[in-house]
Amino acid sequence: MELNRRTLLTLGASAAALAAGRPFAGLAQAEALAWRNWSGLQHCEPEERLAPGDVAELGDILKNAPRPIRPVGAGHSFTPLVPTDGTVLSLDRLQGILTVDEARKEATFGGGTRLGAIGRALEEKGQALINMPDINKQTLAGSISTATHGTGLGFNALSAYVRGLELVTAKGEVLTCSADENAEIFEAARVSLGALGIITKITMENRAPYRLTRRVWSVPFDEMMEQAEELAEQHRNFEFYYIPFSGMCLGITHDETDAEINPRASTDDDDAVMTLKALQEWLGWAPSLREYLIRSEMEKLPDDIYVDTSWRIYPSERGVRFNEMEYHLPRAAGLTALKDVRETIETNNLDVFFPIEFRYVKGDDLWLSPFTGRDSCSIAVHRYYEEDHTPYFKAMEPIFRKHDGRPHWGKLHTLGAADFAALYPRFKDFQEVRAALDPEGVFLNNHLRHVLGVA
Ligand SMILES: Cc1cc2nc3c(=O)[nH]c(=O)nc-3n(C[C@H](O)[C@H](O)[C@H](O)COP(=O)(O)OP(=O)(O)OC[C@H]3O[C@@H](n4cnc5c(N)ncnc54)[C@H](O)[C@@H]3O)c2cc1C
Repeated sequence: MELNRRTLLTLGASAAALAAGRPFAGLAQAEALAWRNWSGLQHCEPEERLAPGDVAELGDILKNAPRPIRPVGAGHSFTPLVPTDGTVLSLDRLQGILTVDEARKEATFGGGTRLGAIGRALEEKGQALINMPDINKQTLAGSISTATHGTGLGFNALSAYVRGLELVTAKGEVLTCSADENAEIFEAARVSLGALGIITKITMENRAPYRLTRRVWSVPFDEMMEQAEELAEQHRNFEFYYIPFSGMCLGITHDETDAEINPRASTDDDDAVMTLKALQEWLGWAPSLREYLIRSEMEKLPDDIYVDTSWRIYPSERGVRFNEMEYHLPRAAGLTALKDVRETIETNNLDVFFPIEFRYVKGDDLWLSPFTGRDSCSIAVHRYYEEDHTPYFKAMEPIFRKHDGRPHWGKLHTLGAADFAALYPRFKDFQEVRAALDPEGVFLNNHLRHVLGVA
């Protein structure tokens, strides 16, 4: 999240004090086996939490461990993909770069490798990920399993850069999958919600290391609506945030450069977000005054420009916890949908302060990818983790649905299998592959049964 202290802290020292004084009151550490996701919304107390050290150990676990067995990455999904009474299975011990193919610019990673552990190690091997999301805490297997994406009209979600993977099935088979080997399973597995088996290795298509110039600037909403499509065409990566009740956006572009590294001095985005929260609390009853204050500070903002290596530029720190809904819409509908979102929030004076994120993602052909068959715009709405997200998301979801949106698999939504069957041309094929690989439903928790349509 790219809000600057200079912009928003000047709006009130009291807000900053409020920001500093709020501890994180999550569901933490009650019991050794208790599991919870990053936001604290999802939790469970499984019989076992296991982390195999190799594929043989994994095979034993799949045979003997309490069911359902649910693979977990870094727990950064908001949907209940992981909770189980049976076994939460982590690949924390199967991490790192395993092999590198210099000629093809590919590298194979352990499934549990964190995105944040990839950048420097891969650079030392002469490669870099082609694009990245806006944080780097996730595991590679967890990221591809929900079609995690960054931004850029020319760039797919991470799953589309997978060139091969190793899948250990419920029956304990170890399948090597690629376009040439187990091709059907490969198509299904690249976005598979941990429903087909455990992904132990992933081969990614990469590129040579690169540097990026990042520019962050503020601009009125109406101007952004006029410029966004052109900016998306002109820049390698382009995204923007709309700040609710301000009439202002923050634009962000990345472009490749040979310039010297000149990193960002400090990150105080969390303070900025908490200042917006304080303003909502003080001035929620006076939207015009709130808009005037935010707008007049943002208009004074100078551009923020810096240069760094790609893997340091992409991720930000997200210290302020939230729950999130994100829908991926056909590109042509994106800006209209965002205008609808803004109008609904502001005419109904909804309790909203988190910036709304707008990104571009290139279409692909993966069976369960929300980008399948179409270039897309993604709109993400966030709600502070201590607040009830349901009224806000309930107001947003019909807008996204009206514009033919598909939800991010890892972010909150209310859809079920019948909806997905209508949204995904290859949904039935996925169901068949899943049923063949895991007929007894070893990997199915209630949420997966609901979204995949298994009784
Ligand atoms: C602060 C924050 C920022 C985010 N930013 C972005 C963003 O910029 N772009 C974006 O698209 N998303 C974003 N997300 C969502 C996140 O990238 C996805 O939900 C991602 O799937 C989380 O990865 P994880 O490693 O935490 O996996 P988990 O959430 O733990 O698991 C996700 C899925 O992967 C499965 N899985 C995990 N490991 C394996 C394995 N080895 N084999 C088979 N299945 C497995 C799980 O069963 C589950 O279905 C963000 C989330 C947060 C909390």
